[in-house]
Amino acid sequence: MDAGLKRELEAKVYAGERLTREDGIALYESDDLAWLGRLAHHRRTELNGDRVMFNVNRHLNLTNVCSASCAYCSFQRKPGEKDAYTMRIDEAVRKAKEMEDEQLTELHIVNGLHPTLPWRYYPKVLRELKAALPNVKLKCFTATEVQWFEKISGLSADEILDELMDAGLESLTGGGAEIFDWEVRQHIVDHDCHWEDWSRIHALAHRKGMKTPATMLYGHIEEPRHRVDHVLRLRELQDETGGFAVFIPLRYQHDFVDSADGKIRNRIQARTTMASPAESLKTFAVSRLLFDNVPHVKCFWVMHGLSVAQLSLNFGADDLDGSVVEYKITHDADAYGTPSTMHREDLLDLIWDAGFRPVERDTRYNVVREYDAPPTLAQRRAEPQQVWA
Ligand code: SF4
Repeated sequence: MDAGLKRELEAKVYAGERLTREDGIALYESDDLAWLGRLAHHRRTELNGDRVMFNVNRHLNLTNVCSASCAYCSFQRKPGEKDAYTMRIDEAVRKAKEMEDEQLTELHIVNGLHPTLPWRYYPKVLRELKAALPNVKLKCFTATEVQWFEKISGLSADEILDELMDAGLESLTGGGAEIFDWEVRQHIVDHDCHWEDWSRIHALAHRKGMKTPATMLYGHIEEPRHRVDHVLRLRELQDETGGFAVFIPLRYQHDFVDSADGKIRNRIQARTTMASPAESLKTFAVSRLLFDNVPHVKCFWVMHGLSVAQLSLNFGADDLDGSVVEYKITHDADAYGTPSTMHREDLLDLIWDAGFRPVERDTRYNVVREYDAPPTLAQRRAEPQQVWA
């Protein structure tokens, strides 16, 4: 990038001016990672100071049986496959209850598009979870699942959301977004929920008072311009509804050979690499700068590893997900040594070690508890440094 353009972009960021599509593409073309981090950190600090938010949640996947076969997905199984599973409602409740001692505040539930499970299963599972864990907020279902419920129930998304909210739904999840541009989407997504339906369902949820997350799956066959396009669509919708609480760039994962059946399920693996840590940090930084009207940017550490998660806090991220005891979708695809469990104390140490102030939040980003400021660098140097995977 030439020095003139660099100065121009820098001036725009410091003046709080909105960046354009061309600006976003130019930022991705820059190899000056430290500069990108400085700009993103400026914006992140303006919005969120030295805070890093987290919540204590549990991820549950009620079923891995799915009618679709998205090219990158190593989670889905077809009915009758050896390790296909669908939880009974009491089983889901028992699993959720196991985390009670962790003082969890949120259950995060996403699932395959099960071909025969009836619609009534879903509100019922929510009601029983709510009855068993009344203080836990239920963040459940992608827009893709809601569109699936429309198909299997004959109801509209409006009626579906009303019933789910009545059963205890607090928020949708942000998945199913992947990359919206059809040029890429047609090669990786194998269901019918694309930008038109995804945005329709989130806008509807926002009108009903929900705050929802939005995700982006990056680092596969897309190019930076597709990431820019993705964020700009969301930014435009956010101008209308103001309902997105957080943006979550998710790093595409390679599959491993499944020891159960010797298969690699990811069908684009042979022609893809995974985003390097530097590319991930760049993606966090550019996302923070472009998506100027979303309050938070989250790093889902399971997909990045803990060291990159710590670094991402200097590249625009201000939210870490979460106190995860079990997360199947990523961990079916992960052989890279990322731990599968993190508890509140681990997360606090991770945030303090990175030099930030932990703040526990709830699903709607209300503050639950503020923690102490991080120790100074001198204090940290006085003790042996912790090494994070
Ligand atoms: S990404 Fe979701 S919809 Fe696509 S195959 Fe996997 S579980 Fe099914």
